[in-house]
Amino acid sequence: MRHDESLYHRYHIETRDAPDIEAWPPRFQVKVRRHRLAWLLLKEIFHYGPAKKEVILSRPCVYGVFSGPIGGFAPRPHLCVGCLRCTTQYPDVVQIVPNPERQKLGDSYFTAHYVNTVAYEAATGRVPVRGAGYRGRFGGQGWDGMWTDMSEIVRPTRDGIHGREYISTMVDIGVRPDHLAFGPDGQPVEPPRVFGVPLPLLFDRLPQVEANPALTRILAAAAREIDTLALLPVAALAHLAEPTPHIVPVVRATETVPRLPFAPRMVELDGWDPAAYQRLQQAFPQSIVALRLPFGDRPTLAAAFAAGVRVFHLTADYHGQLPDGRFVMDGIREAHLFFVEKGLRDAVTLLGSGGIIAAEHVPKAIILGLDAVAIDTPLLVALQARFAGEFRRPGDAYRLPKRLPEGWGVQRLKNLAASWRDQLLEVLGAMGLRDVRRLRGEMGRAMFQKDLEREAFGEIEGYLEQTATSGEPTAASREPMAVR
Ligand code: SF4
Repeated sequence: MRHDESLYHRYHIETRDAPDIEAWPPRFQVKVRRHRLAWLLLKEIFHYGPAKKEVILSRPCVYGVFSGPIGGFAPRPHLCVGCLRCTTQYPDVVQIVPNPERQKLGDSYFTAHYVNTVAYEAATGRVPVRGAGYRGRFGGQGWDGMWTDMSEIVRPTRDGIHGREYISTMVDIGVRPDHLAFGPDGQPVEPPRVFGVPLPLLFDRLPQVEANPALTRILAAAAREIDTLALLPVAALAHLAEPTPHIVPVVRATETVPRLPFAPRMVELDGWDPAAYQRLQQAFPQSIVALRLPFGDRPTLAAAFAAGVRVFHLTADYHGQLPDGRFVMDGIREAHLFFVEKGLRDAVTLLGSGGIIAAEHVPKAIILGLDAVAIDTPLLVALQARFAGEFRRPGDAYRLPKRLPEGWGVQRLKNLAASWRDQLLEVLGAMGLRDVRRLRGEMGRAMFQKDLEREAFGEIEGYLEQTATSGEPTAASREPMAVR
């Protein structure tokens, strides 16, 4: 929702429950041994007598799994949250196990664990909290091998998520020369052209979105309501009655320059072509023209920068893999350092996509060097998409619910953005940072499992170092980690 620019308003995303519209398999199977349950009831009747029927009929589950007409004889597993209260008290009667059907959601990268998390965030807008402590692994491959350091107790902890102290999640996108040079007419040769987005989370172009009017409208409306950007192919714009500046048309280098019924804040050129870049600049003089290209292509980065490009949107595949097989974390770090080493980092904006599928990946990607991320597959999962096998590239198949109500979809994406923003605020608050822009490239806030293990165990004979991305142990290497 647009606000009167002259008035102060505190950024806020309105959340509301938006439950699933398509029944997904329950997360858990509730296995009740009925003969043991009958025996337990008989024992309690004998022990307590009919006068204590409230004891006999009490259920061990506050979530209502055993509160159907015939109680535990017909449990309702879709209500089970896996707290294990019942099986702790009655291990001989009930067992709770993960549902294999639910485990099939997602794919080998966007695993059922991430699907469950994103689905919860999109349905509620809340931060997932796991009670009784985290009992999972504390390390792993890819993003799991990077930890954020919040132990700087000399800095005061901020309190952003509860709203008592404001932490800014605003990021700048645009052209920021490091100094102003003026021409003979007294005008700046390269004037700054920057606009702000109140959270470092954009909606990337989704595969096959142009064939889905409902999906297009949901992305556009959600982007408008949370005041971010939705990247859409030009062909999808026909589905919008009133495109707003929150839309970023993505134009392929081979495409003709589109005529647009609105003035976009940004236009994205998909693939480097100097002539196409010039054409877009001329056609949209008020807009920032960004370049979309895969991570890892340093020659093109240099050429495009020399030609005037200042906003780069770098992409990996949906599993976070670069064309040369490295992981997206390596690509982010490389692009960031590419401009740092040339003294140009503040002159450019780096956006990134691919493999960023959880709230914690956003601050990690910013620490590695991005200004903002453009998310892709989490948007689909938030709208209850199911992948048909591995989902790595835009051509891979997925299926959304047949009926996609616009209000529901917009709320799901708003909830997801609100939950991820709250988790970003938690990270910033714990680090004592008041502004997400201060986090960019702040590698002092990152620790890498591989480095720590090398420091601790490197001198021990037989130590095998994990590779950064594949997880396969290799002979110990003394080379510095690629993302450092
Ligand atoms: S695990 Fe918890 S939520 Fe599930 S049935 Fe048992 S008590 Fe209920």
